[in-house]
Amino acid sequence: MRPEDLLRPTPQGLYCPPGDFHIDPTQPVERALITHGHSDHARAGHGHVLATRETLRIMQARYGDDFAGSSEAVTLGEALRIKGVTVTFHPAGHVLGSAQIAVEAGGLRIVASGDYKRRADPTCLPFVPVPCDIFITEATFGLPVFRHPPADGEIAKLLASVAQFPERTHLVGAYSLGKAQRVIRMLRDAGYDRTIYLHGSMEKLCRLYESEGIALGPLANATVASGHKADFAGAIVICPPSEITERWARRFPEPVACFASGWMRIRQRAKVAGVELPLILSDHADWDELTATIAELSPREVWVTHGREEALVRWCSLAGIPARPLHLIGYEDEAE
Ligand SMILES: [Zn+2]
Repeated sequence: MRPEDLLRPTPQGLYCPPGDFHIDPTQPVERALITHGHSDHARAGHGHVLATRETLRIMQARYGDDFAGSSEAVTLGEALRIKGVTVTFHPAGHVLGSAQIAVEAGGLRIVASGDYKRRADPTCLPFVPVPCDIFITEATFGLPVFRHPPADGEIAKLLASVAQFPERTHLVGAYSLGKAQRVIRMLRDAGYDRTIYLHGSMEKLCRLYESEGIALGPLANATVASGHKADFAGAIVICPPSEITERWARRFPEPVACFASGWMRIRQRAKVAGVELPLILSDHADWDELTATIAELSPREVWVTHGREEALVRWCSLAGIPARPLHLIGYEDEAE
Protein backbone atom coordinates (compact mmCIF):
# COMPACT_ATOMS: atom_id res chain seq x y z
CA MET A 1 0.00 0.00 0.00
CA ARG A 2 1.28 3.47 -0.87
CA PRO A 3 1.15 5.99 2.00
CA GLU A 4 -1.25 8.23 0.02
CA ASP A 5 -3.69 5.33 -0.20
CA LEU A 6 -3.86 5.14 3.60
CA LEU A 7 -3.94 8.84 4.49
CA ARG A 8 -4.06 11.87 2.25
CA PRO A 9 -4.63 15.61 2.54
CA THR A 10 -8.02 16.85 1.31
CA PRO A 11 -9.74 20.25 1.60
CA GLN A 12 -11.53 18.91 4.72
CA GLY A 13 -8.28 17.73 6.33
CA LEU A 14 -6.47 14.37 6.42
CA TYR A 15 -8.60 11.58 4.98
CA CYS A 16 -8.23 7.80 5.24
CA PRO A 17 -9.95 6.23 2.17
CA PRO A 18 -9.98 2.57 3.34
CA GLY A 19 -11.32 3.55 6.79
CA ASP A 20 -13.54 6.32 5.39
CA PHE A 21 -12.71 8.80 8.18
CA HIS A 22 -11.06 12.19 8.55
CA ILE A 23 -8.58 13.33 11.22
CA ASP A 24 -9.27 16.80 12.70
CA PRO A 25 -11.51 17.80 9.78
CA THR A 26 -12.03 21.53 9.32
CA GLN A 27 -15.50 21.01 7.82
CA PRO A 28 -18.36 18.77 8.93
CA VAL A 29 -17.81 15.13 7.86
CA GLU A 30 -19.49 11.79 8.50
CA ARG A 31 -16.77 10.26 10.69
CA ALA A 32 -14.11 12.34 12.49
CA LEU A 33 -11.17 11.28 14.63
CA ILE A 34 -10.10 14.23 16.79
CA THR A 35 -6.61 14.67 18.26
CA HIS A 36 -7.44 17.36 20.86
CA GLY A 37 -9.93 19.98 21.96
CA HIS A 38 -8.47 23.19 20.47
CA SER A 39 -11.12 24.77 18.27
CA ASP A 40 -9.16 24.59 15.00
CA HIS A 41 -8.85 20.79 15.43
CA ALA A 42 -12.11 19.97 17.22
CA ARG A 43 -15.09 21.44 15.43
CA ALA A 44 -18.79 20.89 15.98
CA GLY A 45 -21.16 19.29 13.49
CA HIS A 46 -19.62 15.93 12.56
CA GLY A 47 -21.78 12.82 12.17
CA HIS A 48 -19.67 10.66 14.48
CA VAL A 49 -16.67 11.64 16.62
CA LEU A 50 -13.99 9.38 18.01
CA ALA A 51 -11.66 10.97 20.59
CA THR A 52 -10.33 10.54 24.11
CA ARG A 53 -12.86 10.93 26.90
CA GLU A 54 -11.25 14.22 27.97
CA THR A 55 -11.39 15.64 24.44
CA LEU A 56 -15.06 14.68 24.16
CA ARG A 57 -15.75 16.44 27.48
CA ILE A 58 -13.95 19.56 26.23
CA MET A 59 -16.00 19.56 23.01
CA GLN A 60 -19.19 19.13 24.99
CA ALA A 61 -18.22 22.01 27.32
CA ARG A 62 -17.54 24.28 24.35
CA TYR A 63 -20.26 23.34 21.88
CA GLY A 64 -23.00 21.79 24.00
CA ASP A 65 -24.40 18.27 24.23
CA ASP A 66 -25.21 18.07 20.51
CA PHE A 67 -21.65 18.82 19.33
CA ALA A 68 -21.83 15.71 17.10
CA GLY A 69 -24.43 13.21 15.88
CA SER A 70 -22.82 10.59 18.09
CA SER A 71 -19.49 10.11 19.84
CA GLU A 72 -17.31 7.37 21.20
CA ALA A 73 -14.49 7.63 23.74
CA VAL A 74 -11.27 5.78 22.93
CA THR A 75 -8.80 4.42 25.45
CA LEU A 76 -5.17 5.40 24.91
CA GLY A 77 -3.11 2.55 23.51
CA GLU A 78 -6.13 0.38 22.66
CA ALA A 79 -6.34 -0.78 19.03
CA LEU A 80 -9.62 -0.19 17.17
CA ARG A 81 -10.64 -1.62 13.81
CA ILE A 82 -12.35 0.72 11.38
CA LYS A 83 -13.18 -1.08 8.10
CA GLY A 84 -9.89 -2.95 7.90
CA VAL A 85 -7.79 -0.09 9.28
CA THR A 86 -6.27 -0.31 12.76
CA VAL A 87 -6.37 2.94 14.72
CA THR A 88 -4.63 3.67 18.04
CA PHE A 89 -4.49 6.87 20.10
CA HIS A 90 -1.31 7.80 22.03
CA PRO A 91 -0.54 10.77 24.35
CA ALA A 92 0.74 13.92 22.61
CA GLY A 93 1.71 16.05 25.65
CA HIS A 94 -0.09 19.11 24.23
CA VAL A 95 -3.16 19.72 26.44
CA LEU A 96 -5.46 17.58 28.59
CA GLY A 97 -6.72 14.62 26.54
CA SER A 98 -4.50 15.37 23.53
CA ALA A 99 -3.52 12.37 21.42
CA GLN A 100 -1.54 11.31 18.39
CA ILE A 101 -3.44 9.00 16.07
CA ALA A 102 -1.68 5.98 14.57
CA VAL A 103 -3.33 4.57 11.43
CA GLU A 104 -2.24 1.15 10.21
CA ALA A 105 -3.09 -1.12 7.26
CA GLY A 106 -1.25 -3.46 4.92
CA GLY A 107 1.90 -3.36 7.05
CA LEU A 108 2.14 0.44 6.86
CA ARG A 109 1.83 2.71 9.91
CA ILE A 110 1.29 6.47 9.73
CA VAL A 111 1.23 8.58 12.90
CA ALA A 112 -0.66 11.88 12.77
CA SER A 113 0.70 13.63 15.84
CA GLY A 114 -1.68 16.61 15.89
CA ASP A 115 -0.15 19.33 18.07
CA TYR A 116 2.48 18.14 20.52
CA LYS A 117 5.35 19.06 22.79
CA ARG A 118 8.08 17.08 24.56
CA ARG A 119 8.44 19.08 27.78
CA ALA A 120 6.92 18.16 31.09
CA ASP A 121 3.43 19.58 31.61
CA PRO A 122 1.71 18.91 34.95
CA THR A 123 -1.72 19.11 33.28
CA CYS A 124 -1.43 16.31 30.72
CA LEU A 125 0.24 12.99 29.92
CA PRO A 126 3.67 13.20 28.27
CA PHE A 127 4.21 12.56 24.55
CA VAL A 128 4.86 8.92 23.72
CA PRO A 129 7.13 8.25 20.71
CA VAL A 130 5.35 5.77 18.42
CA PRO A 131 7.54 3.96 15.86
CA CYS A 132 6.10 4.52 12.38
CA ASP A 133 6.79 4.53 8.66
CA ILE A 134 5.41 8.02 8.13
CA PHE A 135 5.41 10.67 10.85
CA ILE A 136 3.10 13.64 10.37
CA THR A 137 4.32 16.61 12.38
CA GLU A 138 3.11 20.14 13.00
CA ALA A 139 5.59 22.99 12.53
CA THR A 140 4.06 25.88 14.46
CA PHE A 141 7.52 26.82 15.75
CA GLY A 142 9.44 25.20 12.90
CA LEU A 143 12.27 27.70 12.65
CA PRO A 144 15.66 27.54 14.41
CA VAL A 145 14.93 30.91 16.06
CA PHE A 146 12.24 29.24 18.16
CA ARG A 147 13.92 27.76 21.19
CA HIS A 148 11.70 27.92 24.23
CA PRO A 149 13.51 28.51 27.53
CA PRO A 150 12.75 26.24 30.54
CA ALA A 151 9.15 26.83 31.64
CA ASP A 152 10.05 27.05 35.35
CA GLY A 153 12.16 30.12 34.65
CA GLU A 154 9.25 31.91 32.99
CA ILE A 155 6.98 31.23 35.99
CA ALA A 156 9.79 32.47 38.28
CA LYS A 157 9.93 35.66 36.20
CA LEU A 158 6.22 36.21 36.80
CA LEU A 159 6.53 35.60 40.55
CA ALA A 160 9.53 37.94 40.77
CA SER A 161 7.50 40.68 39.11
CA VAL A 162 4.55 40.08 41.48
CA ALA A 163 6.96 40.44 44.43
CA GLN A 164 8.51 43.57 42.95
CA PHE A 165 5.18 45.34 42.29
CA PRO A 166 2.88 44.43 45.19
CA GLU A 167 0.53 47.33 44.37
CA ARG A 168 -0.13 46.26 40.77
CA THR A 169 -2.32 43.51 39.25
CA HIS A 170 -0.61 41.03 36.96
CA LEU A 171 -2.92 40.20 34.07
CA VAL A 172 -1.69 37.02 32.46
CA GLY A 173 -3.02 36.47 28.94
CA ALA A 174 -3.29 32.70 28.38
CA TYR A 175 -5.33 30.59 25.95
CA SER A 176 -8.36 29.21 27.74
CA LEU A 177 -7.69 25.54 26.96
CA GLY A 178 -4.40 24.21 28.24
CA LYS A 179 -2.22 27.26 28.72
CA ALA A 180 -4.36 28.84 31.44
CA GLN A 181 -4.47 25.65 33.51
CA ARG A 182 -0.77 24.96 32.95
CA VAL A 183 0.18 28.45 34.16
CA ILE A 184 -2.00 28.07 37.26
CA ARG A 185 -0.69 24.58 38.06
CA MET A 186 2.91 25.71 37.60
CA LEU A 187 2.34 28.68 39.89
CA ARG A 188 1.08 26.21 42.53
CA ASP A 189 4.11 23.97 42.00
CA ALA A 190 6.31 27.04 42.49
CA GLY A 191 4.68 27.58 45.90
CA TYR A 192 2.16 30.33 45.04
CA ASP A 193 -0.88 29.55 47.20
CA ARG A 194 -2.88 32.78 47.09
CA THR A 195 -6.22 32.99 45.27
CA ILE A 196 -5.80 33.23 41.50
CA TYR A 197 -8.50 35.24 39.74
CA LEU A 198 -10.13 34.17 36.49
CA HIS A 199 -11.75 36.07 33.64
CA GLY A 200 -15.28 34.67 33.22
CA SER A 201 -14.39 32.85 29.98
CA MET A 202 -11.73 30.78 31.77
CA GLU A 203 -13.89 29.28 34.45
CA LYS A 204 -15.63 26.40 32.66
CA LEU A 205 -12.43 24.73 31.39
CA CYS A 206 -10.60 25.28 34.70
CA ARG A 207 -13.43 23.46 36.49
CA LEU A 208 -13.28 20.69 33.89
CA TYR A 209 -9.53 20.26 34.51
CA GLU A 210 -10.16 20.12 38.24
CA SER A 211 -12.83 17.46 37.78
CA GLU A 212 -10.19 15.45 35.87
CA GLY A 213 -7.94 15.52 38.93
CA ILE A 214 -5.74 18.52 38.12
CA ALA A 215 -5.85 20.56 41.33
CA LEU A 216 -5.64 24.29 40.63
CA GLY A 217 -5.86 25.62 44.19
CA PRO A 218 -8.02 28.57 45.29
CA LEU A 219 -9.67 30.27 42.30
CA ALA A 220 -12.16 33.15 42.20
CA ASN A 221 -13.92 35.28 39.64
CA ALA A 222 -12.12 38.45 38.63
CA THR A 223 -15.20 40.54 39.28
CA VAL A 224 -14.45 43.95 40.67
CA ALA A 225 -17.17 45.25 42.94
CA SER A 226 -17.37 49.02 42.56
CA GLY A 227 -14.98 50.80 44.87
CA HIS A 228 -12.92 47.69 45.56
CA LYS A 229 -10.36 48.02 42.80
CA ALA A 230 -7.62 47.96 45.44
CA ASP A 231 -8.60 44.40 46.40
CA PHE A 232 -6.71 43.27 43.31
CA ALA A 233 -3.42 44.92 44.28
CA GLY A 234 -0.74 42.27 44.06
CA ALA A 235 -3.11 39.71 42.54
CA ILE A 236 -2.64 37.44 39.54
CA VAL A 237 -5.54 37.41 37.07
CA ILE A 238 -5.70 34.92 34.19
CA CYS A 239 -7.56 36.16 31.12
CA PRO A 240 -7.74 35.72 27.33
CA PRO A 241 -4.71 37.29 25.59
CA SER A 242 -7.01 39.73 23.80
CA GLU A 243 -8.06 41.31 27.11
CA ILE A 244 -4.71 42.28 28.62
CA THR A 245 -4.61 45.71 27.02
CA GLU A 246 -8.34 46.26 26.53
CA ARG A 247 -10.89 48.30 28.43
CA TRP A 248 -11.54 45.32 30.72
CA ALA A 249 -7.94 45.55 32.00
CA ARG A 250 -8.44 49.09 33.28
CA ARG A 251 -10.62 47.94 36.16
CA PHE A 252 -7.47 46.63 37.87
CA PRO A 253 -4.87 48.77 39.66
CA GLU A 254 -1.89 49.60 37.41
CA PRO A 255 -2.19 46.35 35.45
CA VAL A 256 0.96 44.61 34.24
CA ALA A 257 0.16 43.08 30.84
CA CYS A 258 1.70 39.59 30.65
CA PHE A 259 1.27 37.05 27.85
CA ALA A 260 2.21 33.36 28.13
CA SER A 261 2.97 32.14 24.61
CA GLY A 262 5.72 30.67 22.45
CA TRP A 263 5.35 33.76 20.29
CA MET A 264 6.79 35.88 23.10
CA ARG A 265 10.19 34.68 21.88
CA ILE A 266 9.76 37.39 19.24
CA ARG A 267 10.36 40.67 21.02
CA GLN A 268 8.65 42.70 18.32
CA ARG A 269 5.49 40.64 18.64
CA ALA A 270 5.33 41.28 22.39
CA LYS A 271 5.92 45.00 21.81
CA VAL A 272 3.18 45.34 19.18
CA ALA A 273 0.73 43.50 21.48
CA GLY A 274 1.49 45.93 24.32
CA VAL A 275 2.92 43.17 26.51
CA GLU A 276 4.98 44.48 29.42
CA LEU A 277 6.03 41.05 30.72
CA PRO A 278 6.40 38.42 27.96
CA LEU A 279 6.41 34.82 29.25
CA ILE A 280 7.80 32.34 26.73
CA LEU A 281 5.62 29.37 27.50
CA SER A 282 4.43 27.13 24.69
CA ASP A 283 2.29 24.02 24.34
CA HIS A 284 3.93 23.32 20.97
CA ALA A 285 7.30 21.73 20.28
CA ASP A 286 10.10 24.21 19.60
CA TRP A 287 12.72 23.71 16.88
CA ASP A 288 14.88 21.44 19.03
CA GLU A 289 11.91 19.31 20.12
CA LEU A 290 10.68 18.96 16.52
CA THR A 291 14.06 17.88 15.15
CA ALA A 292 14.87 15.65 18.15
CA THR A 293 11.51 13.89 17.77
CA ILE A 294 12.05 13.22 14.06
CA ALA A 295 15.60 12.01 14.73
CA GLU A 296 14.35 9.73 17.52
CA LEU A 297 11.54 8.19 15.45
CA SER A 298 13.67 8.03 12.31
CA PRO A 299 10.64 7.41 10.07
CA ARG A 300 10.87 6.46 6.42
CA GLU A 301 9.22 9.76 5.54
CA VAL A 302 7.98 12.93 7.24
CA TRP A 303 4.92 14.95 6.30
CA VAL A 304 4.70 18.46 7.70
CA THR A 305 1.36 20.10 8.39
CA HIS A 306 0.55 23.60 9.58
CA GLY A 307 3.13 26.16 10.57
CA ARG A 308 6.54 26.95 9.12
CA GLU A 309 6.91 23.88 6.92
CA GLU A 310 9.81 24.83 4.70
CA ALA A 311 12.67 24.96 7.21
CA LEU A 312 11.66 21.65 8.78
CA VAL A 313 11.31 19.98 5.38
CA ARG A 314 14.81 21.16 4.52
CA TRP A 315 16.20 19.97 7.86
CA CYS A 316 14.73 16.50 7.16
CA SER A 317 16.26 16.39 3.68
CA LEU A 318 19.67 17.28 5.09
CA ALA A 319 19.20 14.50 7.68
CA GLY A 320 18.47 12.06 4.85
CA ILE A 321 14.74 11.70 5.61
CA PRO A 322 12.41 12.43 2.70
CA ALA A 323 9.87 15.08 3.76
CA ARG A 324 7.11 17.12 2.23
CA PRO A 325 4.70 19.84 3.28
CA LEU A 326 1.01 18.92 3.23
CA HIS A 327 -0.28 22.50 2.96
CA LEU A 328 -3.33 21.73 5.06
CA ILE A 329 -5.49 24.77 5.58
CA GLY A 330 -7.71 25.80 8.45
CA TYR A 331 -5.27 25.30 11.31
CA GLU A 332 -4.03 28.37 13.06
CA ASP A 333 -0.78 29.52 14.64
CA GLU A 334 -1.19 28.49 18.27
CA ALA A 335 -4.65 29.95 17.98
CA GLU A 336 -5.19 28.89 21.56
ZN1 LIG B 1 -3.62 22.67 19.76
